[in-house]
Amino acid sequence: EEGERLQKVLARAGMGSRRSCEDLIEQARVEVNGEIVREQGLRVDPAKDEIKVDGLTIATQSYLFFALNKPAGVVSAMEDPEGRQCLGDYVQNRETRLFHVGRLDTETEGIILLTNHGELSHRLTHPRYGVKKTYLAAIQGPIPRDLGKQLKDGIKLEDGYARADHFKVVENTGKNYLVEVSLHEGRRHIVRRMLSEAGFPVDKLVRTRFGPIPLGDQKSGWLRRLTNTEVGMLM
Ligand code: URA
Repeated sequence: EEGERLQKVLARAGMGSRRSCEDLIEQARVEVNGEIVREQGLRVDPAKDEIKVDGLTIATQSYLFFALNKPAGVVSAMEDPEGRQCLGDYVQNRETRLFHVGRLDTETEGIILLTNHGELSHRLTHPRYGVKKTYLAAIQGPIPRDLGKQLKDGIKLEDGYARADHFKVVENTGKNYLVEVSLHEGRRHIVRRMLSEAGFPVDKLVRTRFGPIPLGDQKSGWLRRLTNTEVGMLM
């Protein structure tokens, strides 16, 4: 069958639970293309049909959000004119145009969000909104005890100071260190540059969290749809 059930579309547009959206239909408060709907379960096309509740058009566009665990070596672009591996290679559904929310440098792995919500994808990467990102970096020790303080006080880079919000040693074999760094910054190669400037070039970098969304144990190269709760936290 074509289309989607009206109460589902209404619920997704924020008009309440499916049950309460059925009540809206029952109360003859819902119009599709200028006609009051008299039946439950009418199928509609959210992209084409004009749906009104109490005389006001509702936003029925369904927004899609995915989290990809980007492998190293993949370019942060939906398409690559040079034919290198890119984000688009990990997306099955090509009917909807997806945007990537910011970038990871090619050698960096980890969470990157993809969405068809163009406006939100821009907002989430705007410095003004300052989304916090968390990274795990592999570096060679030994490291000074005040490395965290140095990063939090700010590291002077050629394009200005960069500050971390949080620093923690996660693993330490005496020589190989795994450190966690969180920051609100979005500048190119920022974590690599900060650690390198502090004397610790990064061997491997993984983004483990983007704002409220954790990478978790999602496998490299896998895409997952964000839950409604997660999408709500991003909006
Ligand atoms: N910092 C980096 O060095 N690389 C990224 O991809 C993101 C932050």
